[in-house]
Amino acid sequence: MIIDVHAHVWSLDEVDRLRREAREAGVEKVVVMDWPGIAGLRYPALEEVMPRGFDGMFFGVSLSVRRFEEGLERMERFLEDRRVVCIKLYPGYEPFYPNERRMYRVYELAQRFDVPVLFHSGETWEEVPSARLKYSRAIYIDEVAVSFPKVNFIIAHLSYPDFHSALEVIEKNSNVHGDISDLFAYWGWKYAKKHFEWVRGEVEKIIYALDGERILFGTDWPLEGITMKDYVALTKTLNIEEEDREKLLHKNALKIFKRLR
Ligand SMILES: [Zn+2]
Repeated sequence: MIIDVHAHVWSLDEVDRLRREAREAGVEKVVVMDWPGIAGLRYPALEEVMPRGFDGMFFGVSLSVRRFEEGLERMERFLEDRRVVCIKLYPGYEPFYPNERRMYRVYELAQRFDVPVLFHSGETWEEVPSARLKYSRAIYIDEVAVSFPKVNFIIAHLSYPDFHSALEVIEKNSNVHGDISDLFAYWGWKYAKKHFEWVRGEVEKIIYALDGERILFGTDWPLEGITMKDYVALTKTLNIEEEDREKLLHKNALKIFKRLR
């Protein structure tokens, strides 16, 4: 089984393509992230995407800190629906540190509903010039993990390109995990293969350090120039043991995404 814990749809037309690509890639479950006016950009939010959901499509609810109170109420409402399997937050795209006290109300919700919290981390997309990298550093997740030992946190993209910081926080805290979404997505330029080889080597070292635990498969779909099937194939080239491949592709996810079981 393959579970993609981190995808997006940037237009409603993409839902059909996602269903098709997931099937072709052998991905049985895919978690699509909410974008409720994050960074001021207009992309479909759960209100629009969920009614078009298909079998195997699950969701991560988010909020914009610019409308925090309203966002928190909305988040609680969505978490009543079992198809909503996690919370996604976008530090960096949005001006907040994960360890700010106001954000603790979000982690209290995560604890109450027993869902993991996934943070964007590391580099941000150049389409969002207002983004600030100071907020998306992995280190701020350490304090949150200590304050909420019963909540599982996920460092998305392993804080690309700052893999060492991601590993430091994951290795130290048993309730912190990482996903490999977006890391293998960049193709079609001169050094693409060299870049892929570097990133793959970093991911392998992280998997070795963690003995195969707490690293999750994700794509950050829709990918540019490659399909979900290609992303799965690239992931399968990781030089790791078969049992760790199984953990990466679904077993580690099922441990913390209780609603995907
Ligand atoms: Zn994402």
